[in-house]
Amino acid sequence: MKTIDLVVPCYNEEEVLSFFYKETNRVVSQISNYTFHYIFVDDGSCDHTLSVMQELASKHPEITYLSFSRNFGKESAMYAGLKHSVGDYVVVMDADLQHPPSMIIDMIAGIEEGYDCVAARRSNRNGESPIRSFFSRQFYRLSNRMSDVKMAYGAVDFRMMTRQMVDSILELSEVQRFSKGIFMWVGYNTKWIPYQNVERTIGTTKWSFWGLFKYAIDGITSFSVAPLRMVSGIGFTISMIAFIYIIITLVQTLFFGINVPGYVTTLCAVLFLGGIIEFSIGILGEYISRIYMETKDRPIYIIKTSNLKEIKKSSEKDS
Ligand code: UDP
Ligand code: MG
Repeated sequence: MKTIDLVVPCYNEEEVLSFFYKETNRVVSQISNYTFHYIFVDDGSCDHTLSVMQELASKHPEITYLSFSRNFGKESAMYAGLKHSVGDYVVVMDADLQHPPSMIIDMIAGIEEGYDCVAARRSNRNGESPIRSFFSRQFYRLSNRMSDVKMAYGAVDFRMMTRQMVDSILELSEVQRFSKGIFMWVGYNTKWIPYQNVERTIGTTKWSFWGLFKYAIDGITSFSVAPLRMVSGIGFTISMIAFIYIIITLVQTLFFGINVPGYVTTLCAVLFLGGIIEFSIGILGEYISRIYMETKDRPIYIIKTSNLKEIKKSSEKDS
């Protein structure tokens, strides 16, 4: 019988986790020809998420939990879950039930059709503020124009993948991870299934507007060097304009004498160039900071507690 690992990153999800397990289990218990394992990753929650996990794991042997030493972010939590998965297939999903567990059935059907990956895509954005939707749409447009890695609009981190694809994802061991791009970058055949956005009923979203903005910058810089080329382009264009302007000024000076009142022109040029230079340094800085963080080669996560050893021991006993 083939096995499916459900990887669930959790950050401050004490209110919803047991409910999530109950709902998901209700669905997966109806699927007969696969066995399911849960990998709960506690991303350094400051509430009782870990004790909820431990309690669930003590009752249900198919649950593995990992708990981080601090909050490393959802990307790290997903990576840790994938790294510790051993199943033939892996499903990544959120703990807040915004990713309907019933879709796992459709995902399995897709995999059985021969796809390497079946991913969910939101067909609407109900319950999201119009401003957030607007910025999100602009992000996809900008990022897809700049990068060779095309990201699907409305794609969420809810997908089922074959072991082969998971292993490919794990080969991308960068510290600053941007999964939406990584999933696309590794390739493989993906089947998209649309679903209606479900509002979060329990707990709160962990995203602030500023957080999403930083996420968007990460997304663009992780997969594209187009901003750097843009800086060269701006530099070249300004040099050309400056060159033409120099010739015009020289001709004017030679034939009509020196035109003293150049206050506004000088001021505009200095301020404009100052702005462009700061902007360009900022873009360079974004890339340099990423090189800096990558060269440190720090671990992507640190596990403080888990029931991994216990699980290993009990399976040794079994064999
Ligand atoms: N999450 C996480 N670490 C974080 C933030 C979020 O593991 O630092 C988890 C969270 O517990 C949830 C999933 O990532 O299972 C999605 O988070 P959230 O619902 O806040 O995001 P949204 O659905 O609003 O995009
Ligand atoms: Mg959510």
